[in-house]
Amino acid sequence: GKIVIAIDGFSGCGKSSTAKAVAKKLGYTYIDSGAMYRAATLHFLNNHTVLTNIKEVNNALDSLKITFHFDPEKQTQETFLNGLNVEQEIRTMRVSDYVSEVSKLKEVRHSLVAQQQKLGKSKGVVMDGRDIGTVVFPHAELKIFMTADLSIRAARRQKEILEKGELIALEKIKENLGERDRMDSTRVESPFIKAKDAIEIDTSLLEFDDQVEQILSLAKE
Ligand code: C5P
Repeated sequence: GKIVIAIDGFSGCGKSSTAKAVAKKLGYTYIDSGAMYRAATLHFLNNHTVLTNIKEVNNALDSLKITFHFDPEKQTQETFLNGLNVEQEIRTMRVSDYVSEVSKLKEVRHSLVAQQQKLGKSKGVVMDGRDIGTVVFPHAELKIFMTADLSIRAARRQKEILEKGELIALEKIKENLGERDRMDSTRVESPFIKAKDAIEIDTSLLEFDDQVEQILSLAKE
């Protein structure tokens, strides 16, 4: 039968491309929980929401609607914020530099986790993020914990961003990834930690296809 696959891991270790490929092979739905935190962050930036003002935070959350459009042919997923395609904008450094501040708020996490649990109700789902195996789907049949060296992650991320036409210094990317790792792992509300029953995959030296194959064979067990 269909299962839920939770893929958690550090920033920029290739979670989403791996998760997407696994979902395609299995005919499952892929859900990028990071895109939801990024869309929420963009919404807060647009509204100049003051993060220490709970009332403002709750108002912003009330007026936030995140949806996804998935094109199975092109294998592309696009994120919509209140009906607007924000797929490109949520990947900019402006959002990357602020997302960990927003995602540490209890109100934000409660709201997004509830939406993620709804999206995953039907099984046959691959979801990637930081707390999928620990908080969102603690009973997921398969949990993966992905890691990779910071330098390797930064180089891969730089290439990805460059393909979209933006050149960002390696040091700047490294700093952002390292800072998000630090903030995400040390926050009070559901910090990013490895679930006890998660299987760790270090992708530093793995080819992309091999990392997909590894997860697929685990899913068959
Ligand atoms: O996965 P991605 O790097 O796009 O996630 C962006 C940020 O969203 C993370 O650095 C983290 O602060 C937050 N996030 C989270 N919980 C998740 C997914 C992402 O806190 N499940």
